[in-house]
Amino acid sequence: MKLIVAKNAGFCFGVRRAIEETQKLLHSKKKSIYSIGSLIHNEIVINKLKEEGLIEINDLDDINNLKNETVIIRTHGVEKKIKELLINNGNEIIDLTCPFVSKIHEIVDKYTNDSYTIIVIGDKNHPEVKGIVSYGRDVYIVSNEDDISALNIPRNNKILAVFQTTINSGNAEKLVDILSKIYYNIKVVNTICNTTRDRQEEVVSLAKVLDVMLIIGSKTSSNTMKLFEIAKRYCDKTYLITDKTSLNSIKINKNEKVGVSAGASTPQYLIEEILTNVRNEF
Ligand code: SF4
Repeated sequence: MKLIVAKNAGFCFGVRRAIEETQKLLHSKKKSIYSIGSLIHNEIVINKLKEEGLIEINDLDDINNLKNETVIIRTHGVEKKIKELLINNGNEIIDLTCPFVSKIHEIVDKYTNDSYTIIVIGDKNHPEVKGIVSYGRDVYIVSNEDDISALNIPRNNKILAVFQTTINSGNAEKLVDILSKIYYNIKVVNTICNTTRDRQEEVVSLAKVLDVMLIIGSKTSSNTMKLFEIAKRYCDKTYLITDKTSLNSIKINKNEKVGVSAGASTPQYLIEEILTNVRNEF
């Protein structure tokens, strides 16, 4: 069996920074450290941080009750009104929103002030998208062609389209093509982050030529699931590997060539563990 590991697998810059800064704070142990929502989308990493003392807050009432505490804002960012609430309640904010996400907030804010209607191409349930939407006034979310058909925006409006950072770039381009045929006054800013783009391109090139693809990461991670979907398109034997037990249900033949990639929130030690198990078991 030949094993090829993608160059871009594992923690991206934004996730690595968030984990390192959080650990530094936890180890300084001055006081309790809270995060609004899950810091990153990987349960294994989050459980470890919780063991080290991180307290995750999800409920709006609990957020409202945080006063004069140290509060981390996760990589995906939070809604503008939540950030304002935390500041008004005297909390110290450690803003670990990835710079690629903060940039989208700035763009949406600027174009909203210039009277643009904003279209966010992404998943309406994803916290990053909810955060982006909160920086605009006249904002619509589009995930597929049906969402575009349901839009009720005057055709001569000035439109700005931005993308969720981890969206599948092929799908995004397809949706932009459709939008561009409807709205002649549309400006598109491709806000897919470089990490995501490089990772997706690499997975396409591996999945096209290899027999098996293993994508390591959590089901809750948007970018991991996008890698899985993209790989599956080109390689039937594509499997999502959340931990070493996922290997129990798959079969790899000795003469098959296997590609491995991982989401941006997948820790290196999990990738190493899976690689060791694949080498030993198949
Ligand atoms: Fe930032 Fe991209 Fe990593 Fe998300 S995937 S944290 S946008 S670098």
